[in-house]
Amino acid sequence: MVVMEQMRFGYPASTFALRIDALHIRPGEKVAIVGPSGSGKTTLLNLVSGISIPNSGRIVVHGLRIDVLNDRARRNFRIATIGFVFQQFELIPYLRLVDNVLLPYFINPRLKLNREVRARADELIARLGLGGKERRYMHELSQGEQQRVAVCRALVGAAPLILADEPTGNLDPANKRSVLQLLFEESDRAGQTLLAVTHDTAVLDGFDRTIDFSEFHAVGAES
Ligand code: ADP
Repeated sequence: MVVMEQMRFGYPASTFALRIDALHIRPGEKVAIVGPSGSGKTTLLNLVSGISIPNSGRIVVHGLRIDVLNDRARRNFRIATIGFVFQQFELIPYLRLVDNVLLPYFINPRLKLNREVRARADELIARLGLGGKERRYMHELSQGEQQRVAVCRALVGAAPLILADEPTGNLDPANKRSVLQLLFEESDRAGQTLLAVTHDTAVLDGFDRTIDFSEFHAVGAES
């Protein structure tokens, strides 16, 4: 599902450099990414989703070589292939909860919003304990609730690859378990691949594999 080879990446205005010689993630695998803050975990998710482009090397996701695509093709790839739980949630304040969950269907003409999709959204919302709050705006939700909305949104389109940046970071232990259980069950049921950044060592057992970022030669001063 993800192949990265001889990948090099640096931010223009920063000395941070990320070097990954080989990373292979199989379809359906659930992989946790751990490592110290600032080691490049979010940067990796941005590279896999085509938000950032490497300086050199190859990135193949779901059979498509994304490092050579133009902006429009990368955007289409991202919409069709990836469900993203952002660290800062990236929810829309003027949309109600249910419409934030359905957002991929409003911005992507290829996704058709029908009764089945609405039922799936309702089911996800209920399973994450947000039932009855569907019409609330984001400022009427706690941080933990907003995080769960972000998880529902990432899952609703059944994208082949779910990327999650600290998906349990703002949650209490009970909600942590329900969010992870949902991520694992849904990804199993739909055959989705899951790549999640986490600091939470208590949750690592549920993953097939853990990638420790200290393996990746994230070199602070490399050009
Ligand atoms: P992690 O997710 O492991 O905490 P990040 O991928 O967010 O690490 O960041 C890795 C490094 O890249 C950090 O040193 C950070 O300051 C730097 N960095 C992140 N985003 C940018 C950016 N847009 N421009 C310049 N430097 C950045």
